[in-house]
Amino acid sequence: MSKVGKRVQIRTRPPEERRRDFNEVELTLEPEEAMKEASRDIKYCVAPCTRGCPVGVEVPKFLKLTAEGNFKEAYLTLIQRTPVPSITGRVCQQEVQCEGSCVLRRAGEPIAVGAVERFVGDWALENNIEVPVSAEKKHKRVAVVGSGPAGIVVASDLARLGYDVTMFEAYHVPGGVLAYGIPEFRLPKRILNKEFDRLRSLGVDIQLGVVVGTTYTLKELLQDYNAVFLGVGAGRPMFLNVPGENYAGIYTANEFLTRVNLMKAYMFPEYDTPIHLGKRVAVIGAGNTAMDAARSALRLGSEVYIVYRRGRQEMTARAVEIEHAEEEGVKFMFWAAPAEFLSSDGTNVSAIRIMKLKPGEPDRSGRPRPVPTGETFDFEVDTVITAIGFYPNPLIPSHTPELKVDEKGRVVVDMEGRTSIPGVYAGGDIVTGESTVIEAMGWGRRVARAIDHDLSLKG
Ligand code: SF4
Repeated sequence: MSKVGKRVQIRTRPPEERRRDFNEVELTLEPEEAMKEASRDIKYCVAPCTRGCPVGVEVPKFLKLTAEGNFKEAYLTLIQRTPVPSITGRVCQQEVQCEGSCVLRRAGEPIAVGAVERFVGDWALENNIEVPVSAEKKHKRVAVVGSGPAGIVVASDLARLGYDVTMFEAYHVPGGVLAYGIPEFRLPKRILNKEFDRLRSLGVDIQLGVVVGTTYTLKELLQDYNAVFLGVGAGRPMFLNVPGENYAGIYTANEFLTRVNLMKAYMFPEYDTPIHLGKRVAVIGAGNTAMDAARSALRLGSEVYIVYRRGRQEMTARAVEIEHAEEEGVKFMFWAAPAEFLSSDGTNVSAIRIMKLKPGEPDRSGRPRPVPTGETFDFEVDTVITAIGFYPNPLIPSHTPELKVDEKGRVVVDMEGRTSIPGVYAGGDIVTGESTVIEAMGWGRRVARAIDHDLSLKG
């Protein structure tokens, strides 16, 4: 281990300070820290990290350039694969992707690829490093519907190749799930905004407040554009389907996070859009969205419990997010699930009837199936936030019967994102169901290549 040095310590703000505000929790590495960490790369490495990255970032190459202090070339290497390294460096699930494959992991300390990538991305934004674009214009128009992770990659790749790209976003700010779903303390809006400024500088026209499916139909878009990419994600929440789920005070994580992140509920009265949570909040679920909701509710002043139907080992959130949540004071209730929501006044939720569970035989995911023990207890709450998963957004398919979807509402595509309608492509969560930011970006890259290929054939 000593031969390759110790992994850099990523600095975080103290829990007692950060649990009171929405400022970023982890701090960007200093240049010397990034260079030192990047120099832990080893010569005989066969780059399993690159295979572990869904967009195939050339990790050893960008690390070597960073170690040499050549941050500009490191950035130009990164953006061949991830157009937004300051974002992917922050939100990727690195421990199971690039860092999960790192050969130094066997020694217990993989290279902090995400932290170095974030440093390089931030450095490039601060220093206004320009992204190279093709001098040759294609004189072809592509509509990108949705401005989340998949849409960002498609728009960026095609704009750089010389296409005229218009991006349509239903909300009043761009970013999709990166904007409405991920809180400021994990991904500051200033970073997101700078990445969209960069996209605009590539010539991408970003139109906000346009709901494709109602403002324009897909057919109308096809009259004006040579190709249309659908990357509207999976934002339709799943419900528990237990009695009392419609009481006031029970939010889906999507609604709650949108109100916090986009409507800035945490900045009341500066923003006139407060949210009332009360003293005790229960968040149902244990993925990254559940952690984001729990940590946001904590910052709004509530006592917060994660209620999860399995155990700690089975939680699907990033390990670092669970650790941060715990440090900040979020409490966990394992092997427990709502059987019913109760209301003392017939309108507002006042308690959850919780059934106790125990681990059973493994299910298809390989995790122990939660089995009811037959015992229940009532847990008083003021607010409940459900974060148990999402379905693909149904709006466009429901207005476009020719667009083939499967029984789960996922748009059916070939390996490169071609849908049942000629000229219409799709990728990301609307095709796969809920996935990670970088997996959606991987789809974006594949589909951008297919669109370029198909439009090039048309001359
Ligand atoms: Fe790792 Fe994400 Fe960067 Fe790929 S894009 S190298 S998975 S941090």
